[in-house]
Amino acid sequence: MAMPTDLEIARAAHLDPIGEVAARAGIDDEFLELYGRDVAKVSLDAIAANRDRPRAKYIVVTAITPTPLGEGKTTTAVGIAQGLAAIGKRSMLALRQPSMGPTFGIKGGAAGAGYSQVLPMEKLNLHLTGDFHAITAAHNLLAAMIDNHLHHGNALDIEPHSISWRRVVDINDRALRNVIVGLGSRIDGVPRQSGFDITAASEVGVILSLATSLHDLRERLGRIVIGYNRDKEPVTAENLHAAGSMAVILKDALKPNLLQTTENTPVLVHTGPFGNIATGNSSVVADMVGIGCADYLLTEAGFGSDMGAERFFNIKCRVSGLHPDAAVMVATVRALKVHSGRYTVKPGRPLPSGMLLDNPDDVWAGAPNLRRHIEIVRSFGVTPVVALNVFPTDHADEIDAVRQIAEECGAHFAASTHVVDGGAGAADLARAVVAACEEPARFRYTYRLEAPLADKIEAIATRVYGADGIDLSPAAARELAHFEDLGYGHFPVVMAKTHLSLSHDPALKGAPTGWRLPVREVRAAAGAGYVYTICGDMRTMPGLASHPAAERIDIDADGNTVGLF
Ligand code: ADP
Ligand code: MG
Repeated sequence: MAMPTDLEIARAAHLDPIGEVAARAGIDDEFLELYGRDVAKVSLDAIAANRDRPRAKYIVVTAITPTPLGEGKTTTAVGIAQGLAAIGKRSMLALRQPSMGPTFGIKGGAAGAGYSQVLPMEKLNLHLTGDFHAITAAHNLLAAMIDNHLHHGNALDIEPHSISWRRVVDINDRALRNVIVGLGSRIDGVPRQSGFDITAASEVGVILSLATSLHDLRERLGRIVIGYNRDKEPVTAENLHAAGSMAVILKDALKPNLLQTTENTPVLVHTGPFGNIATGNSSVVADMVGIGCADYLLTEAGFGSDMGAERFFNIKCRVSGLHPDAAVMVATVRALKVHSGRYTVKPGRPLPSGMLLDNPDDVWAGAPNLRRHIEIVRSFGVTPVVALNVFPTDHADEIDAVRQIAEECGAHFAASTHVVDGGAGAADLARAVVAACEEPARFRYTYRLEAPLADKIEAIATRVYGADGIDLSPAAARELAHFEDLGYGHFPVVMAKTHLSLSHDPALKGAPTGWRLPVREVRAAAGAGYVYTICGDMRTMPGLASHPAAERIDIDADGNTVGLF
């Protein structure tokens, strides 16, 4: 019998009232704000209320260098949460909220797959509780206040060309990448060039993901730098008196959203900052809530271990003060085959012919990528577990090849069939996670915050990516010196580079050696509290494909949504 579709599985699943899911996780009724029967926001007071509870073991879910299709981190994280429950452990899962833009683009939904999904998937993939809309509104309020300030005489003497604060919208819309605002007559504002980014690229979203409390949120919003005055001094959201209103708009959005998996285990879904120019991790507060609610807290970090997990370790863990006990490295046969360099995978297209044939040699040829990611996790003193996310098209000896590669590196390993079997299919993987958490972790960062910014960039490039060194452009070097003068020298660093290679070049598969990382440009996100480097072309506003998913999404005769997958 053919496997039902994700949508059919989601529709047939039994959902417990969210209050029951919360109660099982030890979240008291008084901390719940219900958004219907299936979703609730959790008050941050739950953090203090659960402070004396035993801390959960803390596991970050990351991956080898993925193909553009994604290798199933979300799906596998859901599977492990269900698998832990299947072997009698209490689990909590923290996930990013998917951005709505890509849902209508090429990606479709991002709520897991098969029998390992987060429900209700329609809400998750669309508005949920409106947090992304709140980010959009807070971000655009600041933009409006900047243009209003220029219109009313520019008392702060802002240099209009230096304004880097753009507007955001949660729709993929390439026509908005570059716009001119303020056209019309004198009363319509001061004309200047600007543009739109997708909401997930908003610094407000990263701030929401890193804030540890409502007051910390308020302070960070105030530190946002929107541009410079004519004396080249930074102008902040605080200077514009915008941060208080922004914090008020975001007050509810700071509370994590509680949902459940297809097997009724709890999931906190909260914030979804971009994985390239931002941190690519779910929120600090969700993890602070979750750590007091279970035996095992799983949290997903975007893209491969060089991307989301590196920022999880070096940035998110510093802010939260939480240290991981283990890291799950999601691998797939298809991604390892791509790392052989013999195949190219494109989203929206069928896999290249030949890739689905039984060919363990291709898997071995891609092994250096997996080995390198295991080393990356170990460089943080964290125990790796290789999770092979099994696809129906995988062959037994290919799966065995992945097992051998992982075991030769001394890593825990399990193949997992959660997509077709739910938690029962992830029981071995759950046991591997439990075993890894029993090993002592000696967590350490890649760099000290006191080190010069250029040294931090070099440390990530060489120790995490495997580069021989970095090549800073003269402009980037000047900007780093400027940031140190402005007092940003102690910031951690986000490296904006492709996720499709350990290097800056998406075409370099496997584990590239003998290369240097070019750093073209550096920018600061002073509110979020990091400096970021631009290594390659960074898109902050995606476009739609010639036939986007939006053309297939509709409402059927019964009023159900169809085409979201
Ligand atoms: P990530 O979180 O790493 O981006 P996802 O969990 O969103 O990856 O999965 C990426 C895509 O692959 C989704 O469309 C998902 O439905 C599909 N997928 C993941 N794992 C499997 C699997 N084992 N079998 C079939 N499809 C899968
Ligand atoms: Mg994901």
